[in-house]
Amino acid sequence: VLPTVGFIGLGNMGSGMTRNLQRAGFPLVVNDLRRESAAELVAGGARWAATPAEAAAESDVVITMLPTPRHVDAVVNGPEGILAGIADGGTWVDMSTSVPEVADAVRRAHGARGLRILDAPVSGMSVGAANGMLQIFVGGEAEDVARLRPVFEAMGDPDRILHVGGAGAGYAVKLMINQLWFSHLVATAEVLAIGVKAGVDLDVLRDSLIASPANSNFVEHDVLSILDRGDYDEGFAISLACKDLGLSIDLARSVGVPAELSAVVEQIYRRAKAQYGDLAGEMTPVQLYEDLIGR
Ligand code: NAD
Repeated sequence: VLPTVGFIGLGNMGSGMTRNLQRAGFPLVVNDLRRESAAELVAGGARWAATPAEAAAESDVVITMLPTPRHVDAVVNGPEGILAGIADGGTWVDMSTSVPEVADAVRRAHGARGLRILDAPVSGMSVGAANGMLQIFVGGEAEDVARLRPVFEAMGDPDRILHVGGAGAGYAVKLMINQLWFSHLVATAEVLAIGVKAGVDLDVLRDSLIASPANSNFVEHDVLSILDRGDYDEGFAISLACKDLGLSIDLARSVGVPAELSAVVEQIYRRAKAQYGDLAGEMTPVQLYEDLIGR
């Protein structure tokens, strides 16, 4: 029989991930601040848990998919948090884009309870969550990763479920992926704006970049979806992108890398957030440049 999965955080990502777990036959116990976000899952047989403690107590593995480290801390350590419900030896997997501090503190304070803790953040956007094709970057012990593989496979692309190292490595890999992706976005939008202002036709410029050694996945695919379809990916809020940039820069500085480029990218993201609002999509910084060239 399949293990019961507790899942906390049924937002843009968690809603799709839980639907895929349910489709794969995992019994589910779910919790969110907004009960209505569980309506469809409950109609499909999931149990509602009134608190994270209850979700942890009633499941074999409890997963969190929450916005920021602060939310993860509250859900784990709060008065009705995971630690108040999870059995000794139980498993907690944090799939949020976050940092190791919360888990490290739990290991230090509750080492004797034998909890199994993994970080397994994801890429692939809300579309990937909905269609079960996420990329998953797992930090933790090999035996735990192997045991949890069927759970991950219900949500992700089996070929892109990567065990990237010990505890915390998944968080670090995920932050670096986003840092590079956001940097690509800003760099690409900037050169397109300059080229167009210099008189080159946008389509010609884009095709030239694609034909050149400066081509990238971003130039070839993502820019097209933004410029042709105005798709700024509202399934990922720019406020969360700014959170990720802040976490990467903190990480960089904590290991003695100055992260100068990252700091500029962060500044541009914060400007777009101020201009278009917290809930604008993660690709909205491109709009700053579109506004410049009057598109
Ligand atoms: P979201 O804001 O859409 O969803 C978060 C959910 O957590 C909400 O439903 C909220 O009600 C719930 N929540 C917050 N605090 C809670 C608490 N104390 N108890 C119970 N539930 C609580 O965010 P999202 O876009 O689903 O992102 C979740 C995580 O995944 C973030 O760390 C994000 O950076 C990361 N991520 C997002 C994407 C994306 O495309 N959206 C892609 C990869 C990774």
